[in-house]
Amino acid sequence: MNRLDIIPEKCIACGLCYLHYPEVFDCKDDGIAFIKKESKPLQQEMATPAAYRCPTRAIEIIEHPEN
Ligand code: SF4
Repeated sequence: MNRLDIIPEKCIACGLCYLHYPEVFDCKDDGIAFIKKESKPLQQEMATPAAYRCPTRAIEIIEHPEN
């Protein structure tokens, strides 16, 4: 299953990802998104469309995670 990662330097804090997939994404006080550590692999798989909707492509899809 896909895993997701965020490149914080690319995030513009638009909020799309954590608005639509709050089980996977959250943000710091400045609005920059991060992946919730407790999110499950299936939840990350389901949130893959967020990577395509992110306006700055700050969300990376890791297709073959090692763990
Ligand atoms: S959709 Fe992209 S730019 Fe917007 S908050 Fe999420 S990671 Fe940041």
